[in-house]
Amino acid sequence: MNIHEYQGKEILSSFGVRIQRGTVARNAKEAVDAAKELTEQTGTGWHVIKAQVHAGGRGKGGGVKLAKNLKEVEEIAGEIIGMNLVTPQTSAEGKKVHQVLVAEDVYYPGDSEPDEFYMSVLLNRSTGRNMIMYSTEGGMDIETVAEETPHLIFTEDIDPATGLLGFQARRIAFNLGLNGQAFKEMVKFVLALYKAFEKSDSSLFEINPVLKTSDDKILAVDAKVTLDDNALFRHKDYAEMRDIREENPVEVEAKEVGLNYVDLDGNVGCMVNGAGLAMATMDLIKMAGGEPANFLDVGGTADAKRVEEAFRLILKDDKVEAILVNIFGGIVRCDRVAQGIVDAYKNMGDAINVPIIVRLQGTNAEKAKELIDNSGLKVYSAVEFKEAADKVQEVLS
Ligand code: GDP
Ligand code: MN
Repeated sequence: MNIHEYQGKEILSSFGVRIQRGTVARNAKEAVDAAKELTEQTGTGWHVIKAQVHAGGRGKGGGVKLAKNLKEVEEIAGEIIGMNLVTPQTSAEGKKVHQVLVAEDVYYPGDSEPDEFYMSVLLNRSTGRNMIMYSTEGGMDIETVAEETPHLIFTEDIDPATGLLGFQARRIAFNLGLNGQAFKEMVKFVLALYKAFEKSDSSLFEINPVLKTSDDKILAVDAKVTLDDNALFRHKDYAEMRDIREENPVEVEAKEVGLNYVDLDGNVGCMVNGAGLAMATMDLIKMAGGEPANFLDVGGTADAKRVEEAFRLILKDDKVEAILVNIFGGIVRCDRVAQGIVDAYKNMGDAINVPIIVRLQGTNAEKAKELIDNSGLKVYSAVEFKEAADKVQEVLS
């Protein structure tokens, strides 16, 4: 589950990670109040107004702006709230901004120049261990750094038996070129950050930039935090951070009825049981010259009700020109599934306005094919994978 920057920062701060402080606001007036309060608490004269949407690259899209007085806070907050923010990580339509974070300006002048670093915590899948990935090149696209100057990206693998050790945190601070007070602050920052990652059951932290201020403090300016859905039962307070306005509405609906659905851009809807078969089916569709419109795993119980729910979900996407049902009957018998499809089709009547290709393989596959062929409905049946692919191609052309 993804959360907003301000929520990610709340979690970090609760584990002792220093952050750029701020308050979330839903309109210009709240923004001004937040700014006044922040000045009292932190002494900041300037404020940064930051759009809160689940997408990075907000700065580039005009979603992060500096306000030098309260009038500017009001103007900028008014501009950003309600806008459709387009960033390199959103679609062309962008994302509607419902709230902003009013934060203290941390790039103030002082004895030294502020310096931006990159730091993330994530699972290293090739070693099976958590790692801290970091770079001196903060504040910019880490993908670009990886491509153009890969030697400036460092990693530190963490042994699960010992956790992050002090010497590792010191190595990170050293590799980032720090010394004196900033070095000590970075060691503290890294240790607290890793503790926060483990204790919050997160699957990703990306702090870009981590800032060294002009007075040698180290703090998180940005926070992308992804929580592990499977651990949310342990963190009721984090579960409440979910903002479904940021999620795809069809995916939200699918989750409610217990279907695994991921929206994609293509024209062929897929209804499959099992994630592996779903992936193979998407390949099959591509080979047949189509593009999958979605990933959908209906799971083990493909009865009429479930099949109907799945059809309804798939058909919410008006790009869908055909639906391929590819189900392997193991414990669930193919004839039961076929009956489910026929019943769902009859229940939904005219709601199904695209051709359906059904491939059922496994227990009672032949019987299933008979059922479909004799139903008198506009459903094409196939037993072999290849046959199904050819049918998809046929109906699309
Ligand atoms: P992102 O663009 O979505 O990654 O959002 P960030 O939180 O990383 O902010 C984008 C950029 O805004 C940062 O890289 C900074 O350059 C700038 N920024 C953020 N906070 C401050 C601040 O307190 N003062 C100033 N002057 N700039 C800031
Ligand atoms: Mn950032």
